[in-house]
Amino acid sequence: MGEECIFCKIVEGEIPAKIVYRDENVVAFEDIKPVAPVHLLIIPTQHISSIRELDESNQDVLSNLVHTANKLAKEKEIHDAGFRLNINAGPNGGQTVYHLHMHLIGGRFMTWPPG
Ligand code: 5GP
Ligand code: ZN
Repeated sequence: MGEECIFCKIVEGEIPAKIVYRDENVVAFEDIKPVAPVHLLIIPTQHISSIRELDESNQDVLSNLVHTANKLAKEKEIHDAGFRLNINAGPNGGQTVYHLHMHLIGGRFMTWPPG
């Protein structure tokens, strides 16, 4: 599980990333292809393939991601202006990396609905 996962490799330091936050449960780093002035990926250190794998037994995973997002939004000074948190799940959700991640995107106005 997770052996060929690029985000597990980022957690382990096996491939480089611009890491902005790390604790026991969560790692956050800059997206390699940012879509806005601030674009961070916030992931659990534990390999969970998508949000679809969460249930009542591991709901703390999501709250850790959200808490970290709020903290980083303040640090990046996008908290007051607002930002977007996005989790893509599965093929129709547009998920391309199968290690659960939350996008924290901000620094510009964002339109809705998404494409
Ligand atoms: P998804 O489409 O799965 O929600 O988002 C995957 C995100 O991971 C994309 O925004 C993509 O740019 C980013 N990404 C893919 N590979 C790498 C990588 O090796 N390093 C970093 N920092 N970001 C990556
Ligand atoms: Zn992984």
